[in-house]
Amino acid sequence: MTIPFLDYKAVNQPYFEKIEEAVKRVLRSGWYVLGKEVSAFEKDYASYCGTKHCIGISSGLDALVLVLEAWKEMGKVKAEDQVIVPANTYIASILAISKAGLDPVLAEPDIYCNINPSEIEKLITPKTKVIMAVHLYGQCADMDAINEIAKKHDLLVMEDSAQSQGATYKGKKAGGLSNAAAHSFYPGKNLGAIGEGGAVTTDDQELATTISLLRNYGSEVKYHNQLKGLNNRLDELQAAILRVKLPYLDQDNAKRKLIADTYLKKIQNPKVSLPIIAEHGTPNWHLFVVMTKDRESFIQHLKANGIQTAIHYPIPPHKQPAYSEWNDRSYPETERIHKECVSLPISPAHTLKEAVFIANIINNF
Ligand SMILES: *Cc1c(COP(=O)(O)O)cnc(C)c1O
Repeated sequence: MTIPFLDYKAVNQPYFEKIEEAVKRVLRSGWYVLGKEVSAFEKDYASYCGTKHCIGISSGLDALVLVLEAWKEMGKVKAEDQVIVPANTYIASILAISKAGLDPVLAEPDIYCNINPSEIEKLITPKTKVIMAVHLYGQCADMDAINEIAKKHDLLVMEDSAQSQGATYKGKKAGGLSNAAAHSFYPGKNLGAIGEGGAVTTDDQELATTISLLRNYGSEVKYHNQLKGLNNRLDELQAAILRVKLPYLDQDNAKRKLIADTYLKKIQNPKVSLPIIAEHGTPNWHLFVVMTKDRESFIQHLKANGIQTAIHYPIPPHKQPAYSEWNDRSYPETERIHKECVSLPISPAHTLKEAVFIANIINNF
C-alpha cells in the first residue's frame, strides 16, 4: 500500500464532470477575462467569508502584494514602513512585504505555530503600520488579541488566509477577521483551482475599489489609467472552476476533520507531539503537522511503510539565501519548528482506514 501525501487528481475526481462542464461553458462563451464567472465567484466567496467585498486575483502572493500596494495608494502606508509578520510562515507572506517596498519585521510564534500576540507589541516602532497575521496550517491566529494591539497603536491588520479557507475564529470565518485578507487557490490549498488563483476579501469599499483598479492596469474603463497598476486578474476559467468547488468546501473540510480527529485520537507515541488546537476556533486542517526530534528516521520509518510525508517548511525564511541580510539572526522557536515538523497525509481524498493505518505505523516508531 502506498499512501500519497496529496493527490490533486483524487481531490478533484468527485468534481470532474461539473468542472468539465464549467470549462466548456467558458470556452464556448468566448469571454475569457473579467466577466460573469469572476463576478459571480467574487460575490459567492465574499458571502462565504462574511465580507462585503471580494476581488479575484491572479495568485495568493499577488493578493498579498496588492493589499499593501493599495494601502500605499490610499496614503495609509508609505515606502519603507514596517510590517510585523510571523517568522514562522511560508516565505510568500514575507516576499509580499518586500515586493511592496516595505520592511518585514519578524515575530516569533506561539504554541499553535502562529504569530505570538505577546511578541508583537515589543516590535512596534514609529515606522510600524501593519500587522500581517498568517493562519498557518489552517488554524486561525489569535485575532482578538492582534486587533486589540492594532487598535491601541493605530495599525492596520491583514490576514494571509492562503491556508485557511473555511477555518473559523470565534464562529467567524477566516478572511473576515481584519481590515483585509489575501487568499490563495493554488491547487494544493483547501479550495484549489486547476492552476493559479487568489482573492482579497475586505469590508473596506475604498480598498476594494483600489485593488480592483490595481489588478487591471490601474484602469476601470479600458485605456483610461487612473493608477500605475499591474495585470493581476483571476481568469474566467479558474473562477468557473472555483464556483464548482466552493459549495463543497465545508464538506471537503469535514472529511479532513475526520482524518485529523483519527490522528489526534489514535497517535500515541512519546516521541511524536501532536498539533495543539486553540480553543478560539476550528482549523480547516489544511495541514496536519506533528513534531519529532528524530525527524529523519521518523520520515524513513513512514516511507518504509509506504507513507509519504512532507515538511512545511524545511528552511525558515530568515535562513534563506533570498534574505541573506537576516541569515545570522536567531529566532529559536521558529528554527525548532522548522527542524522538527513533519506533515502527515491529509485531504478529502484520504480515507479513515488510511488514517488508522498511519497512526498505527507512527505508534510503532
Ligand atoms: C500558498 C501560500 C501563499 C501564496 O499563495 P500562491 O497562490 O501560491 O501565490 C502565501 N502564503 C501562504 C501562507 C501560503 O501557504
